[in-house]
Amino acid sequence: MRAEVIAIGDELTTGARLDTNSQWLSAELAVLGIPVIFHTTATDTLEAGAEAFRIAAGRADVVVATGGLGPTADDLTRDVLAAVACQPLELSAEALVVVESRFARRGMAMPETNRRQALFPRGSRVIPNPDGTAPGLDVDLPRPDGGGSRVFALPGVPAEMQLMWRQTVVPALLAMQPERGTIVQRRIKCFGAGESAIEQMLPDLVRRGREPLVGITAHEATITLRIAARGRDEAACRALIAADEVTIRGCLGPLVYGVEDDEVEDAAIRAARAAGLSLASAEIGTQGRVAALLAQADARGGGRVFRGGRVLAPDAPDDPTSSAVRARHDAGADLGLAIGPPQTDAEGKTTLDIVLASAAGVERVTHRLGGGASLALSRAAKTAVDLVRRSLLATRSPQVSHPTEAV
Ligand code: ATP
Ligand code: MG
Repeated sequence: MRAEVIAIGDELTTGARLDTNSQWLSAELAVLGIPVIFHTTATDTLEAGAEAFRIAAGRADVVVATGGLGPTADDLTRDVLAAVACQPLELSAEALVVVESRFARRGMAMPETNRRQALFPRGSRVIPNPDGTAPGLDVDLPRPDGGGSRVFALPGVPAEMQLMWRQTVVPALLAMQPERGTIVQRRIKCFGAGESAIEQMLPDLVRRGREPLVGITAHEATITLRIAARGRDEAACRALIAADEVTIRGCLGPLVYGVEDDEVEDAAIRAARAAGLSLASAEIGTQGRVAALLAQADARGGGRVFRGGRVLAPDAPDDPTSSAVRARHDAGADLGLAIGPPQTDAEGKTTLDIVLASAAGVERVTHRLGGGASLALSRAAKTAVDLVRRSLLATRSPQVSHPTEAV
């Protein structure tokens, strides 16, 4: 089975927006073992859309398209698919009820233009959109050789598209190849070492073609290991994943901070919450990033752990140790986290001192800034936040050695 991905929209062909949907979908299709042979990007015209789908149907077994499902006159994907399938557009009563109820729930009358979103080429299937108004389409397009190509058309909004992909398209694709069983994925999140260092700590695991497949990606110093297991059913897949997860955690130890959508700051707040500790911050070199990360993660986790953060002027006279102790004291928090100003070390490299103060004393680490300016500060902020988790982990399990200086 071979796939083609189509992205539709003027904002893509003009360069106003980057087509991240095709990138995301291609990575997802690869996990399912379905190779993507072409990416096509088309403007919002009937002609361009029809040409793109006609060509794709002629060379791919599966076509996944995004964009052009909205209610406005330039959203033409449903008209394009009706034309290429040589089927009339018919009103789907099922889809109309869903579209109308979205507006009713917000106490609004449905604008007449949104009726379009309940039109489907005869013989096609509706892909529910739990987060938006535009349902997707699942259509068979005929091929001159007598075969057919199955098209899944999804909205352009990335979050809606991704949810519909997971809920409806993935099960449909798995059902198209029943002999290949099912696929389950799990993401293990790591921080504190580079992508290649982590790869070297997992000999054999991140090998191409291995089953389960373990992929490694990096985003702003956060490393994601994605385990994709294929098996006869979900339980079989989960068993394979569990075995790999044990290996990964064994090899990487405290570098693993979480799973799935966890961020470093979520793990830090979780660790503080589990220990019954509150936290405050004071920062210079990271310019507010640490306070933002902690405040956002605390809000996601239910609140009351983060007591506030100060962003100090670059020429603030304080040493970060005093700032950490003061942050803790002023906010009435159990832990005080401080990040000092940028400094130049003996080798001419820029560093930041990070200090965590607690009832037990202070812990101070020097972080070397690397990469481009904005990436370097994001990494530094994550390193500071991660010190909270690491420090609490070390308190809990004394076999993990962690140097601590007394005040
Ligand atoms: P809507 O009902 O929101 O109009 P739609 O299916 O018509 O959905 P578009 O209007 O094409 O989708 O796009 C909606 C939003 O999604 C826009 O902000 C657009 O920039 C973004 N978007 C569309 N296609 C892509 C893509 N390929 N990659 C990333 N973002 C995209
Ligand atoms: Mg639109």
